[in-house]
Order: sequence, then structure tokens, then C-alpha cells
Amino acid sequence: MRMRKKKHGEERLLACRRVLVTKPETPIASSETDFSRVAPLWLEIGCGKGGFACETARRNPDICMYAMEKVENVMVIAAEQAVRREEERPTDNLRLMVGDANDLPLWFSPHSVDKIFLNFSDPWPKKGHAKRRLTNRRFFALYREVLKADGKVVFKTDNRPLFEYSLEELSETGITPEIVTFDLHNSQYNEGNVMTEYEKNFAGLGMPIHMLTFSFSEKDNVRTEASEGEK
Ligand code: SAH
Repeated sequence: MRMRKKKHGEERLLACRRVLVTKPETPIASSETDFSRVAPLWLEIGCGKGGFACETARRNPDICMYAMEKVENVMVIAAEQAVRREEERPTDNLRLMVGDANDLPLWFSPHSVDKIFLNFSDPWPKKGHAKRRLTNRRFFALYREVLKADGKVVFKTDNRPLFEYSLEELSETGITPEIVTFDLHNSQYNEGNVMTEYEKNFAGLGMPIHMLTFSFSEKDNVRTEASEGEK
């Protein structure tokens, strides 16, 4: 479904420019680029309406958070929420960007990011669309490039087929996940969990939430397309 263009979308985004960043000429090198302080850098890809990014930033004042969303109409809502939160309780540790995960290396320098969050990413159920899934190995290569050596990816979804596909992609690229739970909310890992908008909806319908986390290592065989060709 295509969302209709938000009324006055551009003006509304412009009004939120204090929390927005545009694509930099040189990729973001560290938290100092936008926050003038040294801190761990966390990134949510596909932030939707921004609830997770706002709450995660609020609970972790010592980190700097970026939230990327490719759909401008959706970003309007996230950005307005971020501005509202910042006015209520200033923490100045969150920036949002209208951007696509495919362009990650244009946004972030190699090994600049500490943690990547993928929350309820689009499932792209058709087999022919597998390469668009954010847990396709093509994206692993991009995450690996921008993450620090000890960086982590955290992925949550309600979608069992997407979750299983993600586990297969990890296995086939030689990565052993650190945490795997098919029922996050009833697991030991739920403490401190920040729920996203989608998560609240699905959990409200009684659906279990799946989560996995992983890191990259010298031993995995995640490769960029340039070095391996089309998969
Ligand atoms: N994380 C939110 C929204 C989940 S819906 C939540 O849990 O509530 C998935 C979101 O990811 C959508 O808003 C979609 O526009 C965005 N998205 C999908 N592919 C993307 C990509 N390649 N780059 C950036 N955002 C993407």
C-alpha cells in the first residue's frame, strides 16, 4: 500500500531540522560528527514512527542514536515525536535521517557504528524479493562494513518465515548468532526490552516476538557483491 503524501510533509520535516541529518558529503565518522562528544553510536534501520529510537535514546543518555527510515511520510511522524520528546526532556542524543539501508556506507564510515537495530523489517515474502530483506547476506556485508569489529546486530520480528530465513542466512554465511529466542517477551532477554510500535501491536494480538543478535568475525564468509557477484 502506498501512503499518500503527508500534507505539508516537507515543511513539517523542515520544522524538525534540529533532529534531522541529511546525507553528509563525507560519511559520519563517529558520534563527534553530530553530537560533539565521544559516545557509542547506535543505529536503527527502518525506524518507522520512531518510538523505539526515542525511547532507547531516552533510556541511554550515554549513547548517541541514529534512526534511518526510507519513507519520508513516515519520517515526518518520527521526527515530530523526537522533537516533542526533546522539548519535554532534552537529552540531545538522537538524530534521524531519511535514507535507505542500501546507502549505508554513504552515511557511515567503515567501523564507526557500535550497534545496529533491525525492528520488524519488511518481510518481502516472495522468494524473488529475498534480496530486499534487511537480513539478506547482501545487507550483512554493508552492516559488517560500517560496524566496529565488536559491533552487534539486534533483529526483532513477529514474522516466523522471515526469522527462519534470517537464521539460514546467518548459517550460510558462517555466523553463529549469540541470542536466539522465538518468544522474547517470555524469555530472560526481555528485561529492558524497548517495544516498537509494531511490537506493541503484534504482542497485543498475542503473537510471539522473535529476536536474534549476532556479530561478525574474521572467520565468517560475508562478502560484498563486488567481490562475489550476484547471489
Ligand atoms: N521499526 C518500526 C517500523 C517497522 S516497519 C516498528 O517496529 O514499529 C519497517 C520500516 O522499515 C518501514 O517504515 C519501512 O519504510 C522501513 N524500511 C524498509 N526497508 C528499508 C530500507 N532499505 N532502508 C530504510 N528503511 C527501510
